[in-house]
Amino acid sequence: MTNILVTGGAGYVGSHACKCMAGAGFVPVVCDDLSSGHRWAVKWGPLEQGDIGDRAHLDDVFAKYQPAAVMHFAGSIQVGESVANPALYYRNNVANTLTLLEAMLAHDVKKIVFSSSAAVYGEPDSVPIEEWSRKAPINPYGVSKRLAEQIFDDFGPAYGLRHASLRYFNAAGADPDGEIGEGHDPETHLIPIILQAASGQRARLDIYGTDYPTPDGTAVRDYVHVTDLAAAHLAALKYLLGGGESVCLNLGTGKGYSVREVIAAAEAVCGTPIPAREKPRRAGDPPALVAAADRVEDVLGWRPQYSDLRQIVETAWRWHNRQA
Ligand code: UDP
Repeated sequence: MTNILVTGGAGYVGSHACKCMAGAGFVPVVCDDLSSGHRWAVKWGPLEQGDIGDRAHLDDVFAKYQPAAVMHFAGSIQVGESVANPALYYRNNVANTLTLLEAMLAHDVKKIVFSSSAAVYGEPDSVPIEEWSRKAPINPYGVSKRLAEQIFDDFGPAYGLRHASLRYFNAAGADPDGEIGEGHDPETHLIPIILQAASGQRARLDIYGTDYPTPDGTAVRDYVHVTDLAAAHLAALKYLLGGGESVCLNLGTGKGYSVREVIAAAEAVCGTPIPAREKPRRAGDPPALVAAADRVEDVLGWRPQYSDLRQIVETAWRWHNRQA
């Protein structure tokens, strides 16, 4: 059995990736401090609880499991928080990534699949966004992801590191089998918030911005099912283990939906009107983010299977009701 070290494996995307890897015969060894991840989400391999900024802890985990590669999900993910507290983002997403890389190299582990983000692009000049499009992140979160990619690139020629940096667009949905799902605290993401409003857990949702230059005035995003993201991580892992070169890839569907379209889809799935009020734009939100998704298909043979908007909302709704 091949062990894969999964930092942040108790989190939303990380736990879905663990399930997917276990289904393919890998053993996901989760390294997570449970600061935002959940013990209940670790089901497919051992949990080594600890901070990836703690080099001694990492050395113990690498020595114990001798992983063939690393999947690196651990990090801070809230754009607004990154503006208010950039030190946290540079510590968690850059400095700790460097510590992880140093531990990897010390243990001769040279392959990493990384959770990057569409935030590396900032406000795109046009959509869909290609991988080679200008990288001009507009908040510390996006900068931190871009810096990590840059470190990986520099570590290639110098130390033989190979990385697959996967730039997620909007991760959404839940495991179709209902075993795991999204559970952020506080919740800031659109679909879980819509579902909370649908079930009466919150009085209403706020629509941030109705004056965008989009067909209905609300912001457009490319929502990709978390199970599809997980499958892409597995494909990237196999690609690197098979000798593939370093690569940065968008993970999106190529299709964008407005906030109002997502609300309408949720009303259809939940069978209830969803109370919403119009609010000003949220700082730092670009009008539209949609991936050009052909490169990932060329390199990894990956295409989304679950990312139809209705399926995204249905799986999220099932998970939401199970938790409630
Ligand atoms: N959004 C909204 N109300 C909310 C949360 C999000 O209108 O309560 C909008 C947000 O402005 C963005 C889209 O929904 O245009 C997706 O936001 P989310 O926070 O889910 O992901 P992001 O695109 O910021 O990564």
